[in-house]
Amino acid sequence: MQILNWQALSSKEQADALKRSPLIGDNSLEQSVATIINSVVNDGDNALRQFSREFDGIELESIALSKSQIAQACANVTDELKQAIAQAKNNIDCFHRAQLQTNLAVETQAGIRCELRSEPIERVGLYIPGGTAPLISTVLMLATPAKIAGCSKRVLLSPPPINDAIVYAATECGIEEIYQVGGAQAIAALAFGTQTVPQVDKIFGPGNRFVTEAKRAVSQDNRCTVSIDMPAGPSEVLVIADKQANPSFVAADLLSQAEHGADSQVMLVTDCIKLAEEVNQALNDQLGKLSRAQTAKQALECSRTIIVEDMDSAARVSNQYGPEHLIIQTEQPRDILPKIRAAGSVFLGAYTPESVGDYASGTNHVLPTYGYSKTVSSLSLADFSRRFTVQELSADGLKNLGQCVMTLASAEQLDAHKNAVAIRLASLTASEPAT
Ligand code: NAD
Repeated sequence: MQILNWQALSSKEQADALKRSPLIGDNSLEQSVATIINSVVNDGDNALRQFSREFDGIELESIALSKSQIAQACANVTDELKQAIAQAKNNIDCFHRAQLQTNLAVETQAGIRCELRSEPIERVGLYIPGGTAPLISTVLMLATPAKIAGCSKRVLLSPPPINDAIVYAATECGIEEIYQVGGAQAIAALAFGTQTVPQVDKIFGPGNRFVTEAKRAVSQDNRCTVSIDMPAGPSEVLVIADKQANPSFVAADLLSQAEHGADSQVMLVTDCIKLAEEVNQALNDQLGKLSRAQTAKQALECSRTIIVEDMDSAARVSNQYGPEHLIIQTEQPRDILPKIRAAGSVFLGAYTPESVGDYASGTNHVLPTYGYSKTVSSLSLADFSRRFTVQELSADGLKNLGQCVMTLASAEQLDAHKNAVAIRLASLTASEPAT
């Protein structure tokens, strides 16, 4: 990876050093995804079949999986993989169940009760990436919290030919509707519905740049009212490491994200030039042994090592970048944690490779990319519910609050607002016994 000295860079060069892959900013992306979405709106299932032929090279017999196809897929999964899925699912279930919140009620003033309640989102669409690797783990990350939250309709989509273990994991999580469609066309199908794929209220799941752009586009399309979880695009990792770090561990973590796709990005921020050089050497040694070496090599081409003065500066660079994943491999990683302002998920210490969060520690691996970790949270149980408020005032409550509301309404020149209070206060005064 290219090694840059942060202090020696101008502010423009520093901003350039933290830019995402040029593939993400490709201007033609928006237009090509809009064309796909419009085709699905106009031609429904026919468009899904045509894009599966064009992008996945598959002639689809059926878009929805039948009960017998589901049973056959489950039977094909090995016991070893089933056990690993069960262990990961337990941890994910445990961490997400702990996020269940009770409704709250507060008396803000005498006679004024305010409540915060939540209800599950009814129809959710879960997108499972499958273009370059079948992300079985994403099934667990989406379907587990959707079930705990109580979403009544849960449908799952993944590119054809759908992987057997994806089908098995979905079934284990109680999903009954599975469709083999991928890419931007899958997102359009969930947003607008087709003859086969049902329309949903909210779309969840990560994906490549076509999927991520399609989610952004449908969430802003006034022909439908679908929401999305977040921009969860091509994977990124930033590693903060000091001289104590093991260069082979650091290189392995960088490659574990680089192998996701040519548009993935990995960054190393360190105060030790010797470590930076050793990591580059370890990258060369490990790269050749990977089955996806070519993909990882392409991702490394737009990835960088940044040399900083000290660990405070490393935290500042990381906050400016806002990584999806942040690994801290330093002597005292917990000392750096309070300085971190933006990261989707943080991995502390030499024995916490990012892979554990990707699969099985229990945290969710659906995380904001493109720097959105500065404002967008990692996926959690709350994303599968909507919150709403309730208020109830007694007559005394309205007497306590009435003048305040009427004064504010007058100041805003909203007479009808003022009158809705005044008319009730007058009625209360009229019904009071004369003294
Ligand atoms: P994918 O399912 O996201 O995309 C595959 C689909 O893309 C194909 O089915 C095809 O329809 C479509 N496609 C491919 N080339 C196209 C083209 N030229 N034009 C239009 N559509 C095209 O699977 P993937 O490609 O393997 O990508 C998965 C992505 O998910 C990776 O980038 C990975 O880093 C990312 N990811 C992100 C997170 C997160 O939380 N941010 C988590 C896991 C994975």
